[in-house]
Amino acid sequence: MDGAMTALPLVFDAPRRGRPPRHLADLTREEARAAVAELGQPAFRADQLARHFYRGVTDPAQMTDLPAAVREDLAAALLPGLLTPVRTLSADGGRTRKTLWRLHDGALVESVLMRYPDRATVCISSQAGCGMACPFCATGQNGLTRNLSAAEITGQAVAAAAAMASGAVTGGPGRLSNVVFMGMGEPLANYARVRRTLDALVTPAPHGLGLSQRSVTVSTVGVVPAIRRLTEEGLAVTLAVSLHAPDDELRDTLVPVNTRWKVAEVVAAADAYAERTGRRYSVEYALIRDVNDQPDRADALGRLLAGRRAHVNLIPLNPTPGSRWDASPLPAQREFVTRLRAHGVPTTVRDTRGQDIDGACGQLAAADRVEGVPAVALPQPSLEPPVEMGAEADQ
Ligand code: SF4
Repeated sequence: MDGAMTALPLVFDAPRRGRPPRHLADLTREEARAAVAELGQPAFRADQLARHFYRGVTDPAQMTDLPAAVREDLAAALLPGLLTPVRTLSADGGRTRKTLWRLHDGALVESVLMRYPDRATVCISSQAGCGMACPFCATGQNGLTRNLSAAEITGQAVAAAAAMASGAVTGGPGRLSNVVFMGMGEPLANYARVRRTLDALVTPAPHGLGLSQRSVTVSTVGVVPAIRRLTEEGLAVTLAVSLHAPDDELRDTLVPVNTRWKVAEVVAAADAYAERTGRRYSVEYALIRDVNDQPDRADALGRLLAGRRAHVNLIPLNPTPGSRWDASPLPAQREFVTRLRAHGVPTTVRDTRGQDIDGACGQLAAADRVEGVPAVALPQPSLEPPVEMGAEADQ
């Protein structure tokens, strides 16, 4: 760490910008039925609309179970197009697909779909930009543009599910099995909309995608009151905590939210979540050369997590062009893993999917900004696209 580190303020309250149009996925089932009734239609039309939305049907002409005379109006009122694909890049033989989306106000966000032999995971964004100001993360350095609506967040998962179902992803038609909130933004700083999205993800058809709770991972940098709130919700989604340092001194600078909630508070909140759900949480740790990858930090992390219901997921930092932050060399990574395991802490190193398509979340948006796309372009955090961790972590 050097003295040139940018110190930005933490931003929890998103700037108020024009809201995206109301969408069925912003509403509960009851609210959707009421909205349809207000449009002079029987309430069950809400179920029909929902079925189309969660199957990825966007063209009203295909909604043949709706009377032709009302299809367009109902779709316009409750299924407005919120995500316009700007581009999709493929990697890993077509098994990884990264999509850059333009929102109604020109903001750009991304999602990454990764297919594995046993699962298909989409990494989605919950905010345009991020207010958490992590200095190694270009998205953080460029601040928070706005919160995404529930429908904008949900829509990314729906698009991934539709891509899987259609056979557009190498490997033939399949099913989206996992969702991770590890794209742009801090999900728990956009709590209400992320909460609504969680419902949409785990609710069975027609009003949701019907995923299992444990296959949905909410990742946080450590917004402790929101972790506690999530604990009280009675959900069993997987929790991932981005720690990146075991000690407050380093974490205060590397993860500035630590100036609000210290390592001990974050870990205690995660412990309480694990206690209530009976399941391990994941500790995300970006390995940054000569910053947080020293053997004594591995030992400190091991001591901190020993005996807890935690699994460490090490992420070799994906260096971004022009950044002074670099990934730890392989020997340092191995040493870190060895020391954590010596403390009895389950540890894995994250897959590095999609590197050849600027796989770090946010890099497509950055590329578009460079090319001058007239939009609120968003730069890149430096983390790899995440992989679902259920296979090794009982997530
Ligand atoms: S690392 Fe995550 S929490 Fe930190 S600024 Fe980047 S996107 Fe936000």
